[in-house]
Amino acid sequence: MTIYKKFLFLILISISLNAAAQQIKIIEKPIIFDATRTQLSLDYLKRRHNLVQKTPTIVPSMIVLHWTASKTMMGTYNAFNKSILPSSRKAIANASSLNVSSHYLVDRDGSIYQLLPDTTFARHVIGLNYCAIGIENVGSNNYPLTKAQLIANEKLVRYLAAKYKIQYLIGHYEHTWFKNTSLWRETNPYYHSDKIDPGKTFMKNIREELQDLNLKGAPARLK
Ligand SMILES: [Zn+2]
Repeated sequence: MTIYKKFLFLILISISLNAAAQQIKIIEKPIIFDATRTQLSLDYLKRRHNLVQKTPTIVPSMIVLHWTASKTMMGTYNAFNKSILPSSRKAIANASSLNVSSHYLVDRDGSIYQLLPDTTFARHVIGLNYCAIGIENVGSNNYPLTKAQLIANEKLVRYLAAKYKIQYLIGHYEHTWFKNTSLWRETNPYYHSDKIDPGKTFMKNIREELQDLNLKGAPARLK
């Protein structure tokens, strides 16, 4: 082999290794986004975030990780697939009748489902929906997230951070720490919810894996 051929060979090897490292499989599984969901999203943007928009879209600068508290992927999918919030969600129904949803849903085995386009508005985090992509994971406090989910979330965050100007990666339980910052947009100062998802261990682990991305967390909690 000539030196030139050796050089070419090494370049090809490194390109294919790079491609393998970045490989991500996303399964399209869209939820309904009909005229009702569009109207309720525009209304939410206006009344809750004080943003008047013509389309229910976001410019993503943050990723929020969640767990579903539901034990199955389809249970969560079916819950998100309705445009209107079910009457059982009394605690948040006064704020809006827009149903909750997220952009991605990661199953226990690490399978990644995309429910909405990245730049479509979704209701998943008070005060920050207008700029945040939501990733839900099937699991709960009693049903801890799996290693496969950690790896899938890591890949997904890398993929999204390469695609958009993502500055923040937070766990849902950290969202209220943005209160009193310019990012927080919620017209009612008393509207908030206490969350624990997706667990502190999961956030600690994923931050260790993603150190090189230099994503910011939530600002330090006041008091
Ligand atoms: Zn959550």
